[in-house]
Amino acid sequence: MENIEKFARRCDVTNKGMNAGWYDENSTEHQYFKDREVVIAHIQSALIQDTQLIEDLNLDVKNESFDRLFDVAYNHLGIYWEEWKVEKGENYFNEFGTEFVQCHKCGCYTEIIESFDFCTHCLTHL
Ligand SMILES: [Zn+2]
Repeated sequence: MENIEKFARRCDVTNKGMNAGWYDENSTEHQYFKDREVVIAHIQSALIQDTQLIEDLNLDVKNESFDRLFDVAYNHLGIYWEEWKVEKGENYFNEFGTEFVQCHKCGCYTEIIESFDFCTHCLTHL
């Protein structure tokens, strides 16, 4: 049970667990991105809606290099690379994005299962 790889965040697009990736501080729907191609698509769609910025920076959104897009994303969109680690006692995710929480009674980490709400080890209500 303790041998699984633990991740502090979960990609909002692919649902994969992640300890490093991109964070969008302005987005409410998709904030965490694990894969480069996924965040590039997110940056492009955010830019396409900002015609003023495109004009100001003279951007050709679909044809810009990834370096330029990351640069614009960092400086103008609040999207940047971050690393995280699972802190003691915090919830974490496995590689498939399943969330685990520590049971306050038995101390085990147990999978959060929607509409179940009990520790799978001791059946205490979470
Ligand atoms: Zn328990």
